Amino acid sequence: MKSGKMNAAIMDKPLSIAIKQVDIPVPGEHEALIKVHCIGVCGSDVHYYEHGQIGRYIVKEPIILGHELAGEVVKVGKAVTTLSPGDRVAVEPGVACGNCEYCKSGRYNLCPDVVFLATPPVNGAWAEYIVMPVSYLHKLPDSMSYETGALLEPLSVGFHAMQRGSAKPFDRLLITGLGPIGLLVGQAAKLFGITEIYGTDTVAFRRELALEMGFTAVFDPAADQIGEKLNELTDGAGITLVVESSGNARAMADSVKLVKRGGRIVFVGLPTADTVPMDMASLIDGEIDTYGVFRYANTYPAAIQALQRSAVDLESIITHRYALTDIKEAVETARTRKDTSIKVMIYPNFVAE
Ligand SMILES: [Zn+2]
Ligand SMILES: [Zn+2]
Repeated sequence: MKSGKMNAAIMDKPLSIAIKQVDIPVPGEHEALIKVHCIGVCGSDVHYYEHGQIGRYIVKEPIILGHELAGEVVKVGKAVTTLSPGDRVAVEPGVACGNCEYCKSGRYNLCPDVVFLATPPVNGAWAEYIVMPVSYLHKLPDSMSYETGALLEPLSVGFHAMQRGSAKPFDRLLITGLGPIGLLVGQAAKLFGITEIYGTDTVAFRRELALEMGFTAVFDPAADQIGEKLNELTDGAGITLVVESSGNARAMADSVKLVKRGGRIVFVGLPTADTVPMDMASLIDGEIDTYGVFRYANTYPAAIQALQRSAVDLESIITHRYALTDIKEAVETARTRKDTSIKVMIYPNFVAE
């Protein structure tokens, strides 16, 4: 590997991003240096790029975004025995404290001291290299592509949603919102043995992709009578599990009507509205269980194992690929072409021949 400087995409203020030379980081005792093979553009990255803030997280200093990545170990710290240079790994981007009540109970995604890549002021990995503690690096089987490795991050949200919602093979699942997360919730559902997967989205391109990726049927919430159609398609049996991944207030409220009594709703999409009215009577009367999902915990090893011998495909959600040097175009594609782009993938070490 080269030493000294590397390319990194630095965002200094909203809508302003450019490649700059920064120092290649040096791994500490329990860390490894990763040569980033590919890294996705996430909705949160685009949000920081556009607005400079998500809730209480504000971009005050120039920042490197990006947190969905896989790459090759090129150097390890003195105390590292579990990985060596040449290993291919997926990077789990949130490093928890390990000592709090949440960490000790296994729910480390709720750790108040978690350090998460590309969440201000923490830098992400739209760069040629990154250093990470080895316990957050997950070795990829030879048969698994780097792209799938990078997509384990958004897949993990779907995997966690399945775990939270106690998914079972005989669930009849409805996923509202078919962006990258909704589509990957569908793939996670398959890994949990679910075969009846319905989806809704207002964007035709997303519905078509969902069908190509194995959804049973898809609907346009603006045009279709979804409740009636689901009733027909399930022979009156109804939906047992809803995963709401749009964040749309209407879709969130409707989920109570679309799930059957005794069913479960997992809320993944963060609402764009401050408050969302809910039909609490139906929720209570129907004994509907509801769950929130914040990122994920303990999903990487399980997802790698489940994916390895399955035919479930994640890569179909990649619609665009860019070299890191084209970062501006990459982010703009994700920001402005929502009708034709799902996942934009960046290749930091790609050099045109
Ligand atoms: Zn993400
Ligand atoms: Zn903790």
